[in-house]
Amino acid sequence: MAQQFSLQYQNLWIQQLKEIMRARTRKEMPLAMVHTYGCQQNVADSEKIEGMLQEMGFGFTKDPKEADLILFNTCAVREHAEDRVFGNVGALKNIKRRNPQLIIALCGCMMEQEHVAKRIRESFPYVDLVFGTHVIHRFPELLFHCLTDHHRVFSRGDDSEDREIMEGLPVRRDGKVKAWLTIMYGCDNFCSYCVVPYVRGRERSRTPEAVIKEFQELVQSGYKDITLLGQNVNSYGKNPDCGLNFAGLLKKLDEIPGDYRIRFMTSHPKDCTHELLDVMANGTHIAHHLHLPFQSGNDRVLKEMNRHYNRTQYLELIHYAKKVMPDLSLTSDVIVGFPGETYPEFLDTVSLIEEVGFTSLFTFIYSPRVGTRAASLPDPISAEEKSKWFQELCKKQEEIAAVHSAKKVGSVERVLVEEEQKKPFLLSGRTGGNIIVDFPGSRELCGTFQNVRVTKARNWILEGKII
Ligand code: SF4
Repeated sequence: MAQQFSLQYQNLWIQQLKEIMRARTRKEMPLAMVHTYGCQQNVADSEKIEGMLQEMGFGFTKDPKEADLILFNTCAVREHAEDRVFGNVGALKNIKRRNPQLIIALCGCMMEQEHVAKRIRESFPYVDLVFGTHVIHRFPELLFHCLTDHHRVFSRGDDSEDREIMEGLPVRRDGKVKAWLTIMYGCDNFCSYCVVPYVRGRERSRTPEAVIKEFQELVQSGYKDITLLGQNVNSYGKNPDCGLNFAGLLKKLDEIPGDYRIRFMTSHPKDCTHELLDVMANGTHIAHHLHLPFQSGNDRVLKEMNRHYNRTQYLELIHYAKKVMPDLSLTSDVIVGFPGETYPEFLDTVSLIEEVGFTSLFTFIYSPRVGTRAASLPDPISAEEKSKWFQELCKKQEEIAAVHSAKKVGSVERVLVEEEQKKPFLLSGRTGGNIIVDFPGSRELCGTFQNVRVTKARNWILEGKII
């Protein structure tokens, strides 16, 4: 009820904003530029923001100079991403000077942090609107107040309604082949290096009914590759009104008829179960791809990271997953140089990637985040040394990936054709294992599944021919 009221309330602002923006810009269709930093969860949030902007009458541009509204959806997970945001916001100053009517808005994880909001307030006076992850659904209302009250608006959402899941927001998806579907929000894990639980709040799962309805709509609209999203999808369904765990939800979705593929991310080894792996193995539409972040191969470091599993438990899961899905493609996230990590401990990570044989890895050098426990730990290893370890790990992974790719030569893969490349008649698609395959073909095949024989391996990209 509260949700319905809130959405109706937002619709009122949307209708008024349509008129306000037309009058302000003297354009039938004002233009918005939305730039997204960070993970797929942010991409999915931006799709909702763009959905609301579209209902306000906006068209979209990638050129900041022709935009009437610029919005950055920011990421707080690494220092580097934050620095880029501040640099790019700084670059907007001149554009705003030339076009004082331009509206500049910032949202996303970074904006949930007090020190960031303070810096924006003090150092970037030309930013008009700042809002956090909990109040995305209130974007129209906040924009309305910003424009009609003629003052800057900062909102991080403090009342309980802002922690609820808002169903029914409009979504503007890019493309017609791949879709993101958020099934849960927030995280309860408090890994000691991670800022997500602080900026996205506690875990909240959407009801199975809401997820299944949206999934069916996506399949009926022709989407072929649907990724279920959440910070830790494996712990889906903890709310009392859910009645299904993640394995149960996945099984139900897989029963929906159609020509499509289901993926999910991100998983957590402590919540990844044999039941889930069995559902994957026995499914019709579920991609045999598991992104299972292990972060470190050393037990002491894993404990310091507050990950709640050890190396043996992780390897046992991998062993079982490979047993029930021999064609499984495994990918993972790794942190190099966690505070206090020693070189022999780092070598445990190297030996783990050799033992598992990942198709690809997302490797990061540890980045301290304000407010997390790890940020206060002693960190004696220099940045240069960590960078050397990082290179060593990447080199090892390249060798592993090359062996994987070489093994694929001669095999036939079911590939979803995603796009025509810049060169005409050269298509690009992905296997169920999420490996990119390039092959000749005409663009009419985009959005279809094709059987492709792999003829060549180039590091992590394959080349092939349709058979
Ligand atoms: S599981 Fe850990 S790393 Fe992932 S979002 Fe939650 S706290 Fe962060």
